[in-house]
Amino acid sequence: MPSVDTQARIERRRVIARILITGGAGFIGSHLCERFLADGDEVVCLDNLITGDMDNVAHLFVNPRFSFVHQDVTNYIYVSGHIDAILHFASPASPIDYLELPIQTLKVGSLGTHKGLGLARVKAARFLLASTSEVYGDPLVHPQPEDYWGNVNPIGPRGVYDEAKRFAEALTMAYHRSHGVATRIVRIFNTYGPRMRLGDGRVVPNFITQALRGEALTVYGDGSQTRSFCFVDDLVEGIVRLLRSDCVHPVNLGNPHELSVREFAETIIRLTGSASPIAFEPLPVDDPKVRQPDVSAARQILAWEPRIALEDGLSKTIAYFQERLEVR
Ligand code: UDP
Repeated sequence: MPSVDTQARIERRRVIARILITGGAGFIGSHLCERFLADGDEVVCLDNLITGDMDNVAHLFVNPRFSFVHQDVTNYIYVSGHIDAILHFASPASPIDYLELPIQTLKVGSLGTHKGLGLARVKAARFLLASTSEVYGDPLVHPQPEDYWGNVNPIGPRGVYDEAKRFAEALTMAYHRSHGVATRIVRIFNTYGPRMRLGDGRVVPNFITQALRGEALTVYGDGSQTRSFCFVDDLVEGIVRLLRSDCVHPVNLGNPHELSVREFAETIIRLTGSASPIAFEPLPVDDPKVRQPDVSAARQILAWEPRIALEDGLSKTIAYFQERLEVR
């Protein structure tokens, strides 16, 4: 169990906590690094840079409380000194990434989570797992509450991500029950914002870059499938609250504002002022038909609510992609 002192270090914001973030050079990881540094904490960013990017954290190196470790979390990880909390965010996270990297995806969810939990145990650190709405698969319950067990195809192409995260949740709970590690599990729904990778194939970077370039927006299927998009700053606030809470059970974080992919394409066309048409392409295998988080638990336990409206978050994201496309 973490010592009383460790718990206090995380909760009392006047004292610097030392936070390890695996996948810290990724999209969400880099925003977490920034947030903890802004809160006055010390951040150790660990990444193997398979899908992460040094550009995401380059601006943080001027801060003496920031350090970077180039390591693969699926191997033995060594970090010197004390650690108060480990946030395990390393993983390919977009469908095309995990289709291209199926074995690495399974390894980082299983072996990587094991290494992170082992480190948390020896350091008496709190451990927070980045899980996903994909644990619900193609859901038969809508919206999805945390006590829904999901509808996942274990042998389909998406199964490598879904099952890795489900295993990671099981292992995290086992370390909590067997070894008393103070664990937290966040189930992250579709999140967007600056630092999403241009070519990661997810709907947000695809549609924005297509619209900015005047290319057709590639809507998969008939575009009637739904998603609910949360701006990254809202997500980060929820994660920080969860880390500081005493909630061991998984908590959904996402924005319940649900819309169809077709409506989303039309929104992007409007906000970018683009003349791009829409082109319909085949729906990927096992693509969930609906997705919307039930965030009652986050509201109740964390007093958390997403605050950033879709259009405001998208405007910031479009500005980011515009800048990236101009410097290319
Ligand atoms: N999608 C699409 N066009 C694209 C990329 C994605 O229509 O160019 C669809 C995809 O089929 C899915 C939704 O947008 O229904 C969200 O896809 P994404 O890859 O962002 O994440 P997912 O929610 O499926 O994990």
